[in-house]
Amino acid sequence: MPFRDLAKIDGIELFRDLPLAPLTTFRIGGRAKIFVRPRRIAALEAALACLQDKGVAYKILGRGSNLLIDDKGVEAVISLAALNALRDLVPDESGGSILTVEAGHGLGRLISWTSARGLSGLEGLCGIPGSVGGAVKMNAGAGTWCIAHILHSVCFTGPGGSCWVSGDRLEYGYRSLEVPSGAVVSMVRLRLFQKERSSIYSEIRALMKKRTKTQPLGRPSAGCIFKNPPGDSAGRLIDLCGLKGLAVGGAEVSFIHANFIINRGGASSADVIGLMDIVKDTVRSITGIELAPEVAIWGMRQ
Ligand SMILES: Cc1cc2nc3c(=O)[nH]c(=O)nc-3n(C[C@H](O)[C@H](O)[C@H](O)COP(=O)(O)OP(=O)(O)OC[C@H]3O[C@@H](n4cnc5c(N)ncnc54)[C@H](O)[C@@H]3O)c2cc1C
Repeated sequence: MPFRDLAKIDGIELFRDLPLAPLTTFRIGGRAKIFVRPRRIAALEAALACLQDKGVAYKILGRGSNLLIDDKGVEAVISLAALNALRDLVPDESGGSILTVEAGHGLGRLISWTSARGLSGLEGLCGIPGSVGGAVKMNAGAGTWCIAHILHSVCFTGPGGSCWVSGDRLEYGYRSLEVPSGAVVSMVRLRLFQKERSSIYSEIRALMKKRTKTQPLGRPSAGCIFKNPPGDSAGRLIDLCGLKGLAVGGAEVSFIHANFIINRGGASSADVIGLMDIVKDTVRSITGIELAPEVAIWGMRQ
């Protein structure tokens, strides 16, 4: 076990057998045998190098809002929660601003910060409970808008160091961004522009009102469980198949939004996978459409 080597790295917090469920919005999952939380980019590089060197498989954790983790747990997790500094805000040539932020910064807190300064661009992410790095990795968004639209550049960190890649060279698609193998999104530069604060706040209020009405926000979930198939909505298809309220153990297809599976208390990872399988099979047999998971699944078949 590389525990002793990891413990020598300056600027990390290290835990053994840490329960992961409380670190996810689904509240599901076992323990991480090794849990590493770097506080600096250099410490992240060193931790990645150490784990790769020892051949230990590791996972990257943002805010755990798009994750289903196996109850059996995983070998090693690197959490980016402590890499959460706002680094820089500089004007760009087009009259807007470029904000540099570390990947572990929470989206909600960032949107509060930018809105209070009349900086617009992030409103489409309001109500999404993830980190900036997780949002970039998942290319988070709503409707036709996604975070890739405001990416100036992304810093990838691997065991050998870090490098910035400009937005026009990034490869992204619906809810995904290509990250070089073994690397992590460690910092992000976002293009923002000045706008009346009142108009930013009223847009956020309208979006939050819509979310509160259409999503089961009071219950543990991982957001949309399946990707929307091209030109359609997974929620519409699941609803059409009469699956709202269907349950396996503690996992239930939400009555409020059919593409949310909620943990109604004590759901296991197997309950969720079992329910996802039934939903997929039913939607395929009735509509002929194959649903693919949007949620990232750790430690089980995907
Ligand atoms: C109530 C609710 C509503 C939601 N609504 C939306 C929505 O409207 N639109 C939307 O797009 N999503 C939505 N989501 C899903 C989720 O919030 C987003 O995908 C979010 O961006 C995930 O960020 P995270 O930090 O929580 O990532 P995590 O859940 O921690 O990780 C998700 C995946 O990304 C990887 N990852 C995380 N950080 C990094 C990094 N820095 N570098 C490399 N890989 C990384 C992880 O390894 C994992 O595979 C919702 C979720 C909930 C619970």
